[in-house]
Amino acid sequence: MKSISSINFKNKKALIRVDFNVPLNENQEVTDSTRIVAAKPTIIHILEQGGSCILMSHLGRPKGVQQEFSLKHIVNTVEDILGIEAKFASNCIGDEAETAASTLEPGELLILENLRFHEEEKEGNIDFARKLSNLGDIYVNDAFGTAHRAHASTTTIARFFEPDQKCFGILLSKEIEAIKKIMETGEKPVTAILGGAKVSSKISIIDNILGKIDHLIIGGGMTFTFIKALGGQIGDSLVEDDKLDMALSIIEKAKSSQVSIHLPTDVVIADKFSNEANIEIAPIDKIPSGWMGLDVGPKTNEKFAEVIARSRTILWNGPVGVFEMERFSKGTIALGQAIADATSNGSFSLVGGGDSVAAVKQFGFENKVSYVSTGGGAMLESLEGKTLPGIAAILE
Ligand code: AMP
Repeated sequence: MKSISSINFKNKKALIRVDFNVPLNENQEVTDSTRIVAAKPTIIHILEQGGSCILMSHLGRPKGVQQEFSLKHIVNTVEDILGIEAKFASNCIGDEAETAASTLEPGELLILENLRFHEEEKEGNIDFARKLSNLGDIYVNDAFGTAHRAHASTTTIARFFEPDQKCFGILLSKEIEAIKKIMETGEKPVTAILGGAKVSSKISIIDNILGKIDHLIIGGGMTFTFIKALGGQIGDSLVEDDKLDMALSIIEKAKSSQVSIHLPTDVVIADKFSNEANIEIAPIDKIPSGWMGLDVGPKTNEKFAEVIARSRTILWNGPVGVFEMERFSKGTIALGQAIADATSNGSFSLVGGGDSVAAVKQFGFENKVSYVSTGGGAMLESLEGKTLPGIAAILE
């Protein structure tokens, strides 16, 4: 892997693709700075070595230049987090950016305006990428959240740098390592926990990981497609009727790959999709009509915890219940606790994909698992076995 430690940044201008796509409130203030904090080690490493940093990022989905998506709104937060002053160029290419970059001194920091103010960014435009590339001596990609996009600043730009002038940032290296542990190098037994709403959105992941794991725990809304396929009664639970055959073929493939599949055995059922519903516990395959399964039950929590306690490498993607509603959050909390316990006993745990990351944060497990991925789509595509264009471009 081309890590940051393979390059000497002294007196060099590092052009760093970061993911500063942070949420802003109506006063254009940063409400969650996780992504800025995540980029800090790379920036500090380069500055301490005597280099300078030119940061480029997108923010939101602007249509042309829209001031509410300007990266000037995040400059103060970046300065607070890094503890140094930042310069700002109000266009990521052109005279202002070129002058600011060429006069940047070692130890200084420049933030460029939103890349997506130019349509060429998402198009992966070569000319636009060339103009960006002229701003720096070394290209560093530290934006895992956009590594699955073949955009100008994430992919095309890399062709303008020699192999020894481009590398992964510290964050991106960590993401790559974490996924590699699940897929290749992790200690066995390896367990994947997949939850969330629909099996259809996870099928490519399941297909790719079955040859690499020992246990597959299934929870959340997708459970019921499996249970119905196996002949159970699922009442009004979420189901994808056109995926019943697929569910059976996953079970078959797991058997032939010697992967143990663990489905819930009991379930919290509700008479409506609401925190105010009447609730009961039922066997997973005997849900009366008029009722729907919205969380895994207590016996299932115990069973899942036992499997997790025996696992040395753990991947978690997707909540096992409708955790956004307090009464259906217990399964997801119990699962987070089991993973935290296994981690404190020395197992490696990776949590990734939008909703499970929200859940670990909400329930306070963020610092009790080994690694929380910063990239939803990029993480899912890696688990599907795809080569991410932003990663491939650095290795070329
Ligand atoms: P995904 O984006 O596919 O990971 O799905 C996450 C969503 O799945 C969350 O918003 C959960 O509320 C939802 N979910 C989890 N369990 C269930 C369930 N039993 N029934 C309906 N939705 C669920």
